[in-house]
Amino acid sequence: MGNPFIHPILKEAAAVFGAGGKKVYLVGGAVRDLLRGHRAQDWDLATDALPEEVMAMFRRVIPTGIKHGTVTVRYKGHSLEVTTFRTESSYTDGRHPDQVRYAAAIEEDLSRRDFTMNALAFALPQGPLLDPFGGGEDIKNRVIRCVGQGEARFREDGLRPLRAVRFAAQLGFEVESRTLAAIPGALEITARVAPERIRDELDKIIAAGTPSTAFLLMEKTGLLELLLPELGHCRGIEQKGFHRFDVLDHSLLACDYSARKKAAFQVRLASLFHDIGKPLTRKMDKSGIWTFYHHERESARLTRNILTRFRYPNAVIDGVVHLIGQHMFFYEEIWSDAAVRRFIIRVGEDKIRDLLELRKADAYATTGTEPGGDFLVPFIDRIEEVLAQGRAFTLKDLAVSGKDLQAAGVKPGPSMGIILGELLEAVIEDPALNNQEKLLEIAKNINNRRY
Ligand code: ATP
Ligand code: MG
Repeated sequence: MGNPFIHPILKEAAAVFGAGGKKVYLVGGAVRDLLRGHRAQDWDLATDALPEEVMAMFRRVIPTGIKHGTVTVRYKGHSLEVTTFRTESSYTDGRHPDQVRYAAAIEEDLSRRDFTMNALAFALPQGPLLDPFGGGEDIKNRVIRCVGQGEARFREDGLRPLRAVRFAAQLGFEVESRTLAAIPGALEITARVAPERIRDELDKIIAAGTPSTAFLLMEKTGLLELLLPELGHCRGIEQKGFHRFDVLDHSLLACDYSARKKAAFQVRLASLFHDIGKPLTRKMDKSGIWTFYHHERESARLTRNILTRFRYPNAVIDGVVHLIGQHMFFYEEIWSDAAVRRFIIRVGEDKIRDLLELRKADAYATTGTEPGGDFLVPFIDRIEEVLAQGRAFTLKDLAVSGKDLQAAGVKPGPSMGIILGELLEAVIEDPALNNQEKLLEIAKNINNRRY
């Protein structure tokens, strides 16, 4: 390694450790990135100072994971994750290390780390680089390899297999064959890992450049059947018509497309899961063609189960499920303005963009080619045109209120609600009716006719 760029803040912080007679190393992803010639996103440091000693050395220190020997130093607007040298500890409950034991030296700390590319340390402020497991060579060759025996390392912490496939998708590296082969033997351990830890990895997979890399490796190793069987069951579900791929490959292509387009996180999740209801709704019609009636409802239901299982926040669950439930629309020019307004109301104006992005990913993944020109443009233009006519979409957008109707002779009670609903229907059909005079007239007519 030539002369790596070490951020001045790290050098300054290192001087504070040095003044206290302590050693400090840059470790983890930051060193990996340094060797790949990328700027690090965040900094993990390892030190022989105990957490209390680190807290005494710096003014602003947050005890973020003090039970595991980690504190966060806030230094001149930057965050440094500082962890005291540790030895390996097992994760009996799949959640927390059983107990934390501090190690005397950095070498021992590096040996507990998961992959060779993550087991490098750069002594701050100016080196040397410690690379006891050949991580530098593996980074150069773009290989993910366990430190030590994969079988044992994966059984110590069942999250590691998922980290391996996540890094493969993030970095575009290969998982070395023995490391990959060790995954199936640890599935029962992975099964016990806390859902929140799995979710954090899924999030990183979804955010990666090519999420399918991880999901295909998961399929190959049994992780998909274990963690996302609903997606696994899409393998081999053939579709007819324009579709070129089975439902699993179609879903993965859609997800990759969303990632490539830097679509919002919820769109990426929706792309991945939008068709998972297909295996359960597939039927052959009389002419021998596969149909998937109402698969979007089944996909929405299964997606709610999956996201709930991994403890996603309710707002995320509702957002993704809504997109999936609405993804089967077929705009044609003959749609009336009222039909366009009903679509806007059903989807929600603020969700339309995401839904159209999902639809684009879906179209792309049907054939594997970029959808012709901008096939949604006529629909987008139409939506804008209709929105320009006004936004009377809910009762509170009406030009009359219950009070106005009461003053005009409508009795309060259930009939009031029914009449207001009918007025809204009328305004959705024809926004020009949304003024007080016209609406009161319609209301009186309904009232006289029925009540
Ligand atoms: P990124 O921050 O991009 O996810 P990273 O490599 O920094 O990548 P972190 O989860 O931040 O990953 O962990 C920092 C370091 O801690 C890793 O590089 C690795 O050395 C070690 N590590 C993290 N999780 C584990 C684990 N489950 N088993 C062993 N070592 C781990
Ligand atoms: Mg990190």
